Amino acid sequence: MNLPNVQFTEEQKQFRQEVRSFLKQHIEKGTFETRCDSWLSGSDPSFSKLVAEQGWIGMTWPKQYGGSERSTIDRYILTEEFLAYGAPVAAHWFADRQTGPLLLRFGTDYQKEFFLPKIVKGECFFAIGLSEPNSGSDLASVATRAEKVEGGWIVNGAKTWSSNAHDAHYMVTLIRTEPLGEKKHEGLSQFIIDLKGEGVTIAPIRYLTGEPHFNDVYLDNVFVPDEMVVGTLGNGWKQGLAELAFERSGPERILSTFPLLNEVIEQLKIKRDLAGLEEATKLVAELWSLRNLSIGVAKVLEEGGEVAVPAALVKSIGTKFEQKIPEIIRLLLDVYPNLQSDNRVERYLAESILHAPGFTIRGGTSEVLYGILAKGVIAQ
Ligand SMILES: Cc1cc2nc3c(=O)[nH]c(=O)nc-3n(C[C@H](O)[C@H](O)[C@H](O)COP(=O)(O)OP(=O)(O)OC[C@H]3O[C@@H](n4cnc5c(N)ncnc54)[C@H](O)[C@@H]3O)c2cc1C
Repeated sequence: MNLPNVQFTEEQKQFRQEVRSFLKQHIEKGTFETRCDSWLSGSDPSFSKLVAEQGWIGMTWPKQYGGSERSTIDRYILTEEFLAYGAPVAAHWFADRQTGPLLLRFGTDYQKEFFLPKIVKGECFFAIGLSEPNSGSDLASVATRAEKVEGGWIVNGAKTWSSNAHDAHYMVTLIRTEPLGEKKHEGLSQFIIDLKGEGVTIAPIRYLTGEPHFNDVYLDNVFVPDEMVVGTLGNGWKQGLAELAFERSGPERILSTFPLLNEVIEQLKIKRDLAGLEEATKLVAELWSLRNLSIGVAKVLEEGGEVAVPAALVKSIGTKFEQKIPEIIRLLLDVYPNLQSDNRVERYLAESILHAPGFTIRGGTSEVLYGILAKGVIAQ
Protein backbone atom coordinates (compact mmCIF):
# COMPACT_ATOMS: atom_id res chain seq x y z
CA MET A 1 0.00 0.00 0.00
CA ASN A 2 1.43 3.31 -1.07
CA LEU A 3 -0.17 6.37 0.54
CA PRO A 4 1.15 9.91 0.06
CA ASN A 5 2.51 11.94 2.95
CA VAL A 6 0.47 15.15 3.05
CA GLN A 7 1.94 18.45 4.33
CA PHE A 8 -0.47 21.30 5.04
CA THR A 9 0.12 24.60 3.25
CA GLU A 10 0.17 27.98 5.07
CA GLU A 11 -3.33 28.73 3.68
CA GLN A 12 -4.58 25.41 5.02
CA LYS A 13 -3.12 26.11 8.46
CA GLN A 14 -4.83 29.49 8.42
CA PHE A 15 -8.10 27.87 7.40
CA ARG A 16 -7.83 25.53 10.42
CA GLN A 17 -7.52 28.59 12.68
CA GLU A 18 -10.57 30.14 11.01
CA VAL A 19 -12.65 27.01 11.69
CA ARG A 20 -11.38 26.83 15.28
CA SER A 21 -12.31 30.40 16.05
CA PHE A 22 -15.81 29.86 14.57
CA LEU A 23 -16.29 26.80 16.80
CA LYS A 24 -14.85 28.41 19.94
CA GLN A 25 -17.05 31.44 19.41
CA HIS A 26 -20.16 29.24 19.18
CA ILE A 27 -19.20 27.20 22.24
CA GLU A 28 -18.76 30.45 24.20
CA LYS A 29 -22.13 31.74 22.95
CA GLY A 30 -23.74 28.48 24.05
CA THR A 31 -24.82 27.54 20.50
CA PHE A 32 -23.67 23.98 21.21
CA GLU A 33 -21.98 21.86 23.86
CA THR A 34 -19.10 19.59 22.88
CA ARG A 35 -20.07 15.94 22.78
CA CYS A 36 -18.51 12.67 21.66
CA ASP A 37 -19.64 10.98 18.43
CA SER A 38 -21.23 14.25 17.32
CA TRP A 39 -21.05 13.46 13.61
CA LEU A 40 -23.59 10.68 13.95
CA SER A 41 -25.60 11.53 17.02
CA GLY A 42 -25.36 15.31 17.29
CA SER A 43 -28.08 16.45 14.91
CA ASP A 44 -28.98 20.13 15.04
CA PRO A 45 -30.48 21.53 11.81
CA SER A 46 -30.04 25.14 13.00
CA PHE A 47 -26.29 24.56 13.55
CA SER A 48 -26.07 23.00 10.08
CA LYS A 49 -27.58 26.22 8.72
CA LEU A 50 -24.79 28.23 10.42
CA VAL A 51 -22.19 25.90 8.87
CA ALA A 52 -23.83 26.40 5.46
CA GLU A 53 -23.65 30.19 5.85
CA GLN A 54 -19.86 29.82 6.17
CA GLY A 55 -19.80 27.99 2.81
CA TRP A 56 -18.70 24.82 4.58
CA ILE A 57 -21.23 22.34 3.22
CA GLY A 58 -20.33 20.91 -0.19
CA MET A 59 -17.14 22.95 -0.07
CA THR A 60 -15.35 20.78 -2.68
CA TRP A 61 -18.27 20.84 -5.14
CA PRO A 62 -18.45 22.91 -8.35
CA LYS A 63 -19.37 26.59 -7.95
CA GLN A 64 -22.16 25.97 -10.46
CA TYR A 65 -24.07 24.12 -7.71
CA GLY A 66 -23.17 26.46 -4.86
CA GLY A 67 -19.92 24.75 -3.83
CA SER A 68 -16.60 26.56 -3.46
CA GLU A 69 -14.35 24.15 -5.42
CA ARG A 70 -11.95 23.80 -2.50
CA SER A 71 -9.65 20.82 -2.06
CA THR A 72 -10.41 17.52 -0.30
CA ILE A 73 -7.65 18.40 2.16
CA ASP A 74 -9.44 21.66 3.08
CA ARG A 75 -12.57 19.62 3.71
CA TYR A 76 -10.52 17.17 5.75
CA ILE A 77 -9.28 20.01 7.97
CA LEU A 78 -12.85 21.23 8.44
CA THR A 79 -14.17 17.82 9.46
CA GLU A 80 -11.25 17.24 11.84
CA GLU A 81 -12.05 20.47 13.68
CA PHE A 82 -15.81 19.70 13.82
CA LEU A 83 -15.04 16.34 15.40
CA ALA A 84 -12.32 17.59 17.75
CA TYR A 85 -14.75 20.19 19.09
CA GLY A 86 -17.65 17.71 19.06
CA ALA A 87 -19.89 20.04 17.02
CA PRO A 88 -23.46 18.87 16.21
CA VAL A 89 -22.99 18.27 12.49
CA ALA A 90 -24.97 15.05 12.02
CA ALA A 91 -27.96 16.63 10.23
CA HIS A 92 -26.00 17.53 7.08
CA TRP A 93 -23.18 14.94 7.39
CA PHE A 94 -24.49 12.23 5.04
CA ALA A 95 -25.57 14.67 2.33
CA ASP A 96 -22.21 16.45 2.47
CA ARG A 97 -20.06 13.35 2.67
CA GLN A 98 -21.94 10.87 0.51
CA THR A 99 -25.01 11.99 -1.37
CA GLY A 100 -23.44 15.08 -2.95
CA PRO A 101 -20.39 13.19 -4.31
CA LEU A 102 -22.71 10.36 -5.46
CA LEU A 103 -24.92 12.77 -7.41
CA LEU A 104 -21.93 14.62 -8.85
CA ARG A 105 -20.61 11.33 -10.18
CA PHE A 106 -23.76 9.52 -11.24
CA GLY A 107 -26.70 11.94 -10.95
CA THR A 108 -28.64 13.49 -13.84
CA ASP A 109 -28.41 17.24 -14.55
CA TYR A 110 -31.87 17.58 -13.06
CA GLN A 111 -30.84 15.84 -9.82
CA LYS A 112 -27.68 17.94 -9.51
CA GLU A 113 -29.52 21.18 -10.12
CA PHE A 114 -32.41 20.26 -7.83
CA PHE A 115 -30.56 18.80 -4.82
CA LEU A 116 -27.00 20.16 -4.63
CA PRO A 117 -27.78 23.87 -4.10
CA LYS A 118 -30.31 22.95 -1.38
CA ILE A 119 -27.76 20.70 0.37
CA VAL A 120 -25.14 23.45 0.24
CA LYS A 121 -27.60 25.87 1.89
CA GLY A 122 -28.25 23.42 4.74
CA GLU A 123 -31.88 23.07 3.64
CA CYS A 124 -31.86 19.46 2.50
CA PHE A 125 -30.65 16.49 4.54
CA PHE A 126 -30.26 12.89 3.40
CA ALA A 127 -30.37 9.50 5.15
CA ILE A 128 -28.77 6.28 3.91
CA GLY A 129 -31.10 3.38 3.17
CA LEU A 130 -28.90 0.31 2.74
CA SER A 131 -29.55 -2.10 5.64
CA GLU A 132 -32.74 -4.12 5.96
CA PRO A 133 -34.08 -6.34 8.73
CA ASN A 134 -32.43 -9.33 6.99
CA SER A 135 -29.63 -7.62 5.10
CA GLY A 136 -26.67 -5.87 6.67
CA SER A 137 -23.20 -7.13 5.86
CA ASP A 138 -24.64 -9.28 3.09
CA LEU A 139 -26.09 -6.23 1.45
CA ALA A 140 -26.64 -7.83 -1.94
CA SER A 141 -29.49 -9.78 -0.33
CA VAL A 142 -31.68 -6.65 -0.05
CA ALA A 143 -35.31 -7.49 -0.63
CA THR A 144 -36.93 -4.06 -0.94
CA ARG A 145 -38.27 -4.16 -4.47
CA ALA A 146 -39.63 -1.85 -7.14
CA GLU A 147 -42.09 -2.53 -9.93
CA LYS A 148 -42.18 -0.41 -13.06
CA VAL A 149 -45.30 1.66 -13.65
CA GLU A 150 -46.09 4.58 -15.95
CA GLY A 151 -43.65 7.45 -15.17
CA GLY A 152 -41.89 5.73 -12.29
CA TRP A 153 -41.77 2.84 -9.85
CA ILE A 154 -43.80 1.43 -6.97
CA VAL A 155 -41.56 0.49 -4.05
CA ASN A 156 -42.35 -1.94 -1.23
CA GLY A 157 -40.11 -3.09 1.61
CA ALA A 158 -38.37 -1.94 4.77
CA LYS A 159 -35.03 -0.38 5.61
CA THR A 160 -33.52 -0.34 9.09
CA TRP A 161 -30.84 1.40 11.18
CA SER A 162 -31.30 4.50 9.03
CA SER A 163 -29.44 7.12 11.03
CA ASN A 164 -31.21 10.48 11.23
CA ALA A 165 -34.03 9.53 8.84
CA HIS A 166 -36.34 11.39 11.25
CA ASP A 167 -34.49 14.67 10.51
CA ALA A 168 -33.79 13.98 6.84
CA HIS A 169 -35.82 15.05 3.83
CA TYR A 170 -34.72 12.28 1.46
CA MET A 171 -33.05 8.87 1.56
CA VAL A 172 -30.75 7.29 -1.05
CA THR A 173 -32.16 3.78 -1.06
CA LEU A 174 -30.78 0.53 -2.49
CA ILE A 175 -33.59 -1.35 -4.20
CA ARG A 176 -34.04 -4.53 -6.20
CA THR A 177 -35.39 -3.52 -9.62
CA GLU A 178 -35.01 -6.94 -11.22
CA PRO A 179 -35.98 -10.27 -9.65
CA LEU A 180 -33.19 -11.95 -7.69
CA GLY A 181 -31.17 -14.01 -10.18
CA GLU A 182 -28.02 -16.09 -9.89
CA LYS A 183 -25.83 -12.99 -9.57
CA LYS A 184 -27.28 -11.26 -6.54
CA HIS A 185 -25.10 -8.14 -7.01
CA GLU A 186 -26.94 -7.42 -10.24
CA GLY A 187 -30.42 -5.94 -10.65
CA LEU A 188 -30.01 -3.44 -7.79
CA SER A 189 -30.63 0.28 -8.27
CA GLN A 190 -30.40 3.46 -6.22
CA PHE A 191 -33.55 5.55 -5.78
CA ILE A 192 -34.01 8.86 -4.00
CA ILE A 193 -37.06 8.53 -1.78
CA ASP A 194 -38.91 11.53 -0.41
CA LEU A 195 -39.19 10.71 3.29
CA LYS A 196 -42.17 13.01 3.70
CA GLY A 197 -43.99 11.26 0.83
CA GLU A 198 -47.08 9.05 0.87
CA GLY A 199 -46.56 5.44 2.01
CA VAL A 200 -43.36 6.20 3.99
CA THR A 201 -43.44 5.47 7.73
CA ILE A 202 -40.47 6.32 9.93
CA ALA A 203 -40.38 4.44 13.23
CA PRO A 204 -37.67 5.41 15.71
CA ILE A 205 -35.35 2.85 17.30
CA ARG A 206 -34.12 4.74 20.35
CA TYR A 207 -30.71 4.51 22.02
CA LEU A 208 -30.57 3.16 25.59
CA THR A 209 -30.57 6.81 26.69
CA GLY A 210 -33.87 7.42 24.91
CA GLU A 211 -32.21 9.66 22.32
CA PRO A 212 -33.58 9.38 18.78
CA HIS A 213 -31.00 8.19 16.31
CA PHE A 214 -31.78 5.15 14.15
CA ASN A 215 -35.04 4.38 12.45
CA ASP A 216 -36.94 1.67 10.71
CA VAL A 217 -38.27 3.05 7.44
CA TYR A 218 -41.28 1.22 5.99
CA LEU A 219 -42.06 1.69 2.32
CA ASP A 220 -45.61 0.77 1.44
CA ASN A 221 -46.53 1.23 -2.24
CA VAL A 222 -44.34 4.34 -2.45
CA PHE A 223 -44.32 5.98 -5.89
CA VAL A 224 -40.83 7.06 -7.02
CA PRO A 225 -40.77 9.05 -10.27
CA ASP A 226 -38.26 8.05 -12.98
CA GLU A 227 -36.25 11.23 -12.42
CA MET A 228 -35.38 10.03 -8.90
CA VAL A 229 -33.43 6.97 -10.13
CA VAL A 230 -29.72 7.67 -9.54
CA GLY A 231 -27.31 6.63 -12.30
CA THR A 232 -27.92 3.49 -14.30
CA LEU A 233 -30.70 1.02 -13.52
CA GLY A 234 -29.20 -2.23 -12.25
CA ASN A 235 -25.87 -0.59 -11.42
CA GLY A 236 -26.77 0.18 -7.78
CA TRP A 237 -24.22 -2.18 -6.28
CA LYS A 238 -21.22 -0.63 -8.06
CA GLN A 239 -22.47 2.90 -7.40
CA GLY A 240 -23.00 2.04 -3.74
CA LEU A 241 -19.42 0.77 -3.45
CA ALA A 242 -18.11 4.02 -4.91
CA GLU A 243 -20.21 5.88 -2.33
CA LEU A 244 -18.75 3.81 0.51
CA ALA A 245 -15.23 4.97 -0.39
CA PHE A 246 -16.27 8.41 0.87
CA GLU A 247 -17.68 6.92 4.04
CA ARG A 248 -15.05 4.56 5.36
CA SER A 249 -11.79 6.30 6.03
CA GLY A 250 -12.55 9.87 7.04
CA PRO A 251 -11.56 11.48 10.34
CA GLU A 252 -14.93 10.35 11.77
CA ARG A 253 -13.41 6.86 11.97
CA ILE A 254 -10.68 7.97 14.37
CA LEU A 255 -12.00 11.04 16.19
CA SER A 256 -15.43 10.07 17.57
CA THR A 257 -14.05 9.88 21.13
CA PHE A 258 -11.41 12.60 20.74
CA PRO A 259 -13.22 15.14 22.99
CA LEU A 260 -12.86 12.61 25.83
CA LEU A 261 -9.15 12.01 25.20
CA ASN A 262 -8.46 15.72 24.94
CA GLU A 263 -10.32 16.55 28.16
CA VAL A 264 -8.61 13.74 30.06
CA ILE A 265 -5.17 14.98 29.01
CA GLU A 266 -6.09 18.45 30.30
CA GLN A 267 -7.18 16.95 33.65
CA LEU A 268 -4.05 14.81 33.94
CA LYS A 269 -1.89 17.86 33.26
CA ILE A 270 -3.63 19.80 36.02
CA LYS A 271 -3.12 16.88 38.41
CA ARG A 272 0.50 16.46 37.25
CA ASP A 273 -0.26 12.76 36.89
CA LEU A 274 2.83 11.64 34.94
CA ALA A 275 1.97 7.94 34.86
CA GLY A 276 -1.51 8.75 33.54
CA LEU A 277 -0.08 11.14 30.96
CA GLU A 278 2.32 8.45 29.74
CA GLU A 279 -0.61 6.12 29.02
CA ALA A 280 -2.66 8.89 27.41
CA THR A 281 0.32 9.88 25.23
CA LYS A 282 0.46 6.35 23.84
CA LEU A 283 -3.10 6.88 22.59
CA VAL A 284 -2.09 10.20 21.04
CA ALA A 285 0.82 8.51 19.22
CA GLU A 286 -1.52 5.85 17.85
CA LEU A 287 -3.98 8.51 16.76
CA TRP A 288 -1.21 10.38 14.96
CA SER A 289 -0.29 7.32 12.86
CA LEU A 290 -3.92 6.61 12.01
CA ARG A 291 -4.42 10.23 11.05
CA ASN A 292 -1.51 10.07 8.60
CA LEU A 293 -3.09 7.02 6.97
CA SER A 294 -6.51 8.66 6.85
CA ILE A 295 -5.18 11.90 5.27
CA GLY A 296 -3.22 9.79 2.77
CA VAL A 297 -6.45 8.07 1.70
CA ALA A 298 -8.19 11.47 1.36
CA LYS A 299 -5.39 12.64 -0.95
CA VAL A 300 -5.64 9.50 -3.13
CA LEU A 301 -9.43 9.98 -3.31
CA GLU A 302 -8.88 13.57 -4.44
CA GLU A 303 -6.63 12.34 -7.23
CA GLY A 304 -9.27 9.82 -8.31
CA GLY A 305 -7.25 6.77 -7.16
CA GLU A 306 -8.43 3.41 -5.84
CA VAL A 307 -8.86 3.40 -2.04
CA ALA A 308 -11.04 0.38 -1.16
CA VAL A 309 -8.26 -1.52 0.63
CA PRO A 310 -6.54 1.35 2.54
CA ALA A 311 -9.99 2.73 3.47
CA ALA A 312 -10.92 -0.67 4.94
CA LEU A 313 -7.64 -0.63 6.88
CA VAL A 314 -8.24 2.82 8.37
CA LYS A 315 -11.81 1.93 9.28
CA SER A 316 -10.99 -1.39 10.90
CA ILE A 317 -8.00 -0.17 12.96
CA GLY A 318 -9.53 3.27 13.55
CA THR A 319 -12.82 2.12 15.02
CA LYS A 320 -11.12 -0.37 17.35
CA PHE A 321 -8.85 2.46 18.48
CA GLU A 322 -11.88 4.69 19.17
CA GLN A 323 -13.42 1.92 21.26
CA LYS A 324 -10.20 1.51 23.24
CA ILE A 325 -10.11 5.15 24.39
CA PRO A 326 -12.98 4.95 26.94
CA GLU A 327 -11.72 1.55 28.12
CA ILE A 328 -8.24 2.88 28.93
CA ILE A 329 -9.44 6.21 30.27
CA ARG A 330 -11.74 4.74 32.86
CA LEU A 331 -8.70 3.05 34.36
CA LEU A 332 -6.71 6.31 34.39
CA LEU A 333 -9.08 8.59 36.29
CA ASP A 334 -11.32 7.99 39.23
CA VAL A 335 -14.52 9.02 37.45
CA TYR A 336 -17.96 7.52 37.07
CA PRO A 337 -19.68 7.88 33.69
CA ASN A 338 -22.70 10.15 33.93
CA LEU A 339 -24.59 11.61 30.97
CA GLN A 340 -26.07 14.47 33.00
CA SER A 341 -22.87 15.43 34.81
CA ASP A 342 -21.41 18.96 34.75
CA ASN A 343 -17.99 17.29 34.82
CA ARG A 344 -16.99 17.00 31.19
CA VAL A 345 -14.92 13.82 31.59
CA GLU A 346 -17.86 12.04 33.25
CA ARG A 347 -20.22 13.15 30.51
CA TYR A 348 -17.92 12.37 27.58
CA LEU A 349 -17.06 9.02 29.12
CA ALA A 350 -20.75 8.11 29.39
CA GLU A 351 -21.40 9.18 25.77
CA SER A 352 -18.40 7.19 24.55
CA ILE A 353 -19.29 4.03 26.45
CA LEU A 354 -22.85 4.12 25.15
CA HIS A 355 -21.90 4.75 21.55
CA ALA A 356 -18.72 2.66 21.31
CA PRO A 357 -20.33 -0.72 20.50
CA GLY A 358 -21.58 0.71 17.20
CA PHE A 359 -18.19 2.01 15.99
CA THR A 360 -17.00 -1.33 14.63
CA ILE A 361 -20.43 -2.11 13.14
CA ARG A 362 -21.54 1.09 11.37
CA GLY A 363 -20.15 1.59 7.86
CA GLY A 364 -19.19 -2.10 7.60
CA THR A 365 -18.39 -4.52 10.42
CA SER A 366 -14.74 -5.21 11.23
CA GLU A 367 -14.99 -8.87 10.14
CA VAL A 368 -16.27 -7.84 6.71
CA LEU A 369 -13.44 -5.31 6.39
CA TYR A 370 -10.91 -8.01 7.30
CA GLY A 371 -12.32 -9.97 4.34
CA ILE A 372 -11.67 -6.97 2.03
CA LEU A 373 -8.14 -6.59 3.43
CA ALA A 374 -7.36 -10.28 3.02
CA LYS A 375 -8.55 -10.25 -0.60
CA GLY A 376 -6.49 -7.06 -1.19
CA VAL A 377 -3.36 -8.69 0.21
CA ILE A 378 -3.87 -11.85 -1.86
CA ALA A 379 -4.41 -9.75 -5.02
CA GLN A 380 -0.99 -8.05 -4.62
C1 LIG B 1 -24.43 3.47 14.79
C2 LIG B 1 -24.90 2.79 13.53
C3 LIG B 1 -25.43 3.55 12.49
C4 LIG B 1 -25.90 2.92 11.33
N1 LIG B 1 -26.44 3.72 10.36
C5 LIG B 1 -26.91 3.14 9.23
C6 LIG B 1 -27.54 3.94 8.21
O1 LIG B 1 -27.64 5.16 8.33
N2 LIG B 1 -28.02 3.33 7.12
C7 LIG B 1 -27.94 1.96 6.95
O2 LIG B 1 -28.38 1.49 5.92
N3 LIG B 1 -27.36 1.18 7.90
C8 LIG B 1 -26.86 1.74 9.03
N4 LIG B 1 -26.30 0.95 10.01
C9 LIG B 1 -26.33 -0.51 9.84
C10 LIG B 1 -24.97 -1.13 9.63
O3 LIG B 1 -24.34 -0.67 8.49
C11 LIG B 1 -25.19 -2.66 9.68
O4 LIG B 1 -25.70 -2.90 10.98
C12 LIG B 1 -23.94 -3.39 9.47
O5 LIG B 1 -23.54 -3.24 8.13
C13 LIG B 1 -23.99 -4.85 9.91
O6 LIG B 1 -25.12 -5.51 9.44
P1 LIG B 1 -26.04 -6.39 10.42
O7 LIG B 1 -26.40 -5.55 11.60
O8 LIG B 1 -27.15 -6.95 9.59
O9 LIG B 1 -25.12 -7.56 10.95
P2 LIG B 1 -24.83 -8.95 10.23
O10 LIG B 1 -24.47 -8.68 8.81
O11 LIG B 1 -25.97 -9.86 10.50
O12 LIG B 1 -23.56 -9.43 10.98
C14 LIG B 1 -23.61 -10.10 12.24
C15 LIG B 1 -22.19 -10.55 12.56
O13 LIG B 1 -21.72 -11.48 11.56
C16 LIG B 1 -20.48 -11.04 11.02
N5 LIG B 1 -20.40 -11.31 9.57
C17 LIG B 1 -21.37 -11.06 8.67
N6 LIG B 1 -20.93 -11.40 7.42
C18 LIG B 1 -19.66 -11.85 7.56
C19 LIG B 1 -18.64 -12.33 6.66
N7 LIG B 1 -18.87 -12.39 5.34
N8 LIG B 1 -17.44 -12.70 7.18
C20 LIG B 1 -17.21 -12.62 8.51
N9 LIG B 1 -18.12 -12.19 9.41
C21 LIG B 1 -19.32 -11.80 8.96
C22 LIG B 1 -20.50 -9.52 11.25
O14 LIG B 1 -19.20 -8.98 11.29
C23 LIG B 1 -21.20 -9.40 12.59
O15 LIG B 1 -20.30 -9.57 13.65
C24 LIG B 1 -25.82 1.52 11.19
C25 LIG B 1 -25.29 0.75 12.23
C26 LIG B 1 -24.83 1.37 13.39
C27 LIG B 1 -24.27 0.52 14.49
